[in-house]
Amino acid sequence: MRVFKFGGASVKDADGIKNVYDVLQKVGYEDVLLVVSAMGKTTNALETVVSAYFDKSASLQSTVQEVKKYHNQILLDLFEDDKSEVFTAVNNLFFDLEYFLSHNKSPNYNFVYDQIVSFGELISTTILSHFMSFMGIKTTWIDVRNFIKTDSTYRDAEVDWEVTQKNISKNVKRKVLNITQGFIGYDDNGFTTTLGREGSDYTAAIFAYCLNAESVTIWKDVPGVMNADPRYFENASLLNQISYREAIELAFYGASVIHPKTLQPLQKKEIPLFVKSFINPLLPGTSVSKGEDLVPFLPCFIVKKNQLLVSLSSIDFSFIMEENISEIFGLLHQYKMKVSLIQNSAISFSICVEDKFGNFNELKNILAKKFKVSYNENVSLYTIRHFNEKASQMVEENKEVLLKQVSRETMQIVTKDAS
Ligand code: ASP
Ligand code: MG
Repeated sequence: MRVFKFGGASVKDADGIKNVYDVLQKVGYEDVLLVVSAMGKTTNALETVVSAYFDKSASLQSTVQEVKKYHNQILLDLFEDDKSEVFTAVNNLFFDLEYFLSHNKSPNYNFVYDQIVSFGELISTTILSHFMSFMGIKTTWIDVRNFIKTDSTYRDAEVDWEVTQKNISKNVKRKVLNITQGFIGYDDNGFTTTLGREGSDYTAAIFAYCLNAESVTIWKDVPGVMNADPRYFENASLLNQISYREAIELAFYGASVIHPKTLQPLQKKEIPLFVKSFINPLLPGTSVSKGEDLVPFLPCFIVKKNQLLVSLSSIDFSFIMEENISEIFGLLHQYKMKVSLIQNSAISFSICVEDKFGNFNELKNILAKKFKVSYNENVSLYTIRHFNEKASQMVEENKEVLLKQVSRETMQIVTKDAS
């Protein structure tokens, strides 16, 4: 069996959905399981619904209407006859969503979030599977909430592999085109859970693992995995082959092409992951698999913008030792600051961190009681895997370098952004 994942951008409008059909015609659809995300920016739009719900905002109704209008237009573009079953099916899902909004009593934000945001995937797969049937492909729509069992950590649910494996082995039909939702699961109480934003790749990997699939293909609007983000670097090149280990390293340093959790289950069973273009589906794209680390062997560039470079030094010239460091890390963890680089000397300790949740100010005041704290905001962290002279020159050119760290395979450079 092959597992295909189509993300939001690939199904953002009627043409996108027709293109999924074209891709399937070209690459085959027997013995295939499609994992599909919410259409376009629907997940963001549903997050707005959640906020409006909790803010008791007067705009709640209009936020829901917006999502409805968007999908309705796609339906009208795909199916001529608005009496067709799919209109009813999608309407029923909106009815369920509205029913939840008017009857829910739980004050738990994360729980409510999952119950609402998951409608994006339920709607997209309903539309997609009706369209494939309409075009003559025999499809089975799978409600993933009978398959992927998780704990009840809403918004970041942990998979129960044993139950999930049983569900999938027993109930996924072969020889047909299966269509299911990315990103969602169910818990002990039968409530919907989600696996974290951008979690659909992970869903594809879970199914592939449990089905012992032949491969996973992530269909994208780029030709595959590039050695650099073309938005920041000229002359980015396509990578043909990446080993699991190298891909995990790249994901660790912040390459956003592949969701980091996705690789582990695939690597365990050596199931290859292909990243291919949904515009040119017959091109080979990138293969992440057992084998050579990187083909062609090129430096790979990863940029993280909006980082903070924080230096702590001891007030009384005493050494910064294990116990200080462990205390500092405890605080960083508590304030949800993600550390992407560490450097220390006898009396000072520098870290590059990302302050996703806006906690730095509070943390800074606590640290300032024990250390002299200095910091730069808005710095960029460049990571170069397999660096060479030319690669590092390219990054450093016209920039003020604040810190540089070199290990055998990786160079990291923190630079000040022009303001
Ligand atoms: N729709 C979800 C999101 O946008 C999951 C995904 O696309 O992977 O985060
Ligand atoms: Mg998405």
